[in-house]
Amino acid sequence: MARRLVIIGGDAAGMSAASQARRMTSAEALEIVAFERGTRTSYSACGLPYLVAGLVESPDQLIARTPQQHRAKGIDVRIRHDVIAVDSAAHTVTVRNLDTGWEAVEHYDELLISTGASGIIPPLPGIDAPGVLQLRTLDDAAEVQRRLDAGARRAVVVGAGYIGLEVAEGLLERGLKVTVIERLDAPMGAVLDADIAIGVADAMRAAGIDLRLDTAVTGFAVVRGRVTAAETAAGSVAADLVVIGLGVHPNVELARSAGVGVGEAGGILVDSQLHTDTPHIWAAGDCVESRHRITGRSVLVALGTHANKQGRTAGTNIAGGHATFGGVLGTAITRFQGVEIARTGLTEREAGAAGFDFLGVTTETSNRASYYPGAQPMKIKIVAERGTGRLLGAQIVGGEGAAKRIDVLATALWNEMTVVEVGGMDLSYAPPFSPVWDPVLLAAGKAASRI
Ligand SMILES: Cc1cc2nc3c(=O)[nH]c(=O)nc-3n(C[C@H](O)[C@H](O)[C@H](O)COP(=O)(O)OP(=O)(O)OC[C@H]3O[C@@H](n4cnc5c(N)ncnc54)[C@H](O)[C@@H]3O)c2cc1C
Repeated sequence: MARRLVIIGGDAAGMSAASQARRMTSAEALEIVAFERGTRTSYSACGLPYLVAGLVESPDQLIARTPQQHRAKGIDVRIRHDVIAVDSAAHTVTVRNLDTGWEAVEHYDELLISTGASGIIPPLPGIDAPGVLQLRTLDDAAEVQRRLDAGARRAVVVGAGYIGLEVAEGLLERGLKVTVIERLDAPMGAVLDADIAIGVADAMRAAGIDLRLDTAVTGFAVVRGRVTAAETAAGSVAADLVVIGLGVHPNVELARSAGVGVGEAGGILVDSQLHTDTPHIWAAGDCVESRHRITGRSVLVALGTHANKQGRTAGTNIAGGHATFGGVLGTAITRFQGVEIARTGLTEREAGAAGFDFLGVTTETSNRASYYPGAQPMKIKIVAERGTGRLLGAQIVGGEGAAKRIDVLATALWNEMTVVEVGGMDLSYAPPFSPVWDPVLLAAGKAASRI
């Protein structure tokens, strides 16, 4: 008789696991059922800001695989099915069909929890008003579009993290007057050091964004049932549309109620094979904690790149293979108009909090040979351990081609290289791509000279 894999959540982590397990096992050996409370599977949330901007024409372009396509591959996907309880002793889940209201108890041999994360929505006055939105799903993007079609002209984005930044760029692209309100003293201030974040702030302001730093939103004014302004201690900001981008928290309620261990950071605890502390229950994606490769600590890093890898790892192991997830470095990349932004490893603040004796060295250079057309400035920051010279982290802000250089530094970090070793690597050079000393070599060399 076939074993039965039940998956809760049908997006990046869940469907990566399903596809991998399907590739490795026949339907006779393993039945795979995925319950998804929404209407879509396997879509790119990462593409939503570009849908809002109009760079991506249709929501369909963001869907990697529809429920029908999964079914054709032998995965029983049931959309509009909400899993409302897990009984880890009886090996069952209770599922509610959101169209009929019917509930059913379904057996599992193996269970994968891939319930993702939800946007943080602070309990501020007016937060539930029409026109106060988040951008997490295709339905959210459709709602933003409806507001634009209805004539929205002024937008407030609350939070200048990477999603806030991408949404602000998209709304600017659509011709709106955009104000970004951020509690910290810099955009992306939680993940970049101040000397790098300043480049982001400059780019936002140069593009015409009204960037208000050190400012907390205290509520929203609502007139005749729709939002008209965001309120702050420094006054109100008129808005036809508000997008909240304040980060996420992992969806762990089902896991917790089933007795599955949840860690101090708030995510489901898993080992490197994505197994939880409860027999036959696995977890992957934004709902789990991951091991940070530099600090060794258990952290929450909600990124699609991890969700896909973790899903694939879990799927391999559930199917009887052997795979491990190697942990995270916090590598991330984004863009604001022509300015590219990236980071990996630890910032100075994070290195200090983790107890490292470190130094941070910032190098100003350019993305191409200075004489080559289109050369633009870029800044690259290296954080390294004093004495040993071990690379601890890096950040980049700059013109075209700047940000993807972070992958070289992430590779070096992954392999625990020192700045001396990084500074001596054989990296490519030709004038259209870099100065003769690639910015990575230049920055590592400068850091090495100060260790
Ligand atoms: C606007 C935006 C931009 C982003 N950009 C990037 C980027 O550039 N790079 C990057 O790496 N990451 C990016 N991300 C993050 C990335 O999208 C997520 O990390 C990824 O989608 C996580 O996948 P997941 O499968 O863990 O969770 P999700 O994609 O959240 O999927 C979880 C699914 O579980 C379903 N579910 C939850 N509970 C239940 C239940 N009880 N029963 C049934 N179904 C349930 C949900 O409906 C959901 O479909 C972005 C995210 C957003 C919102």
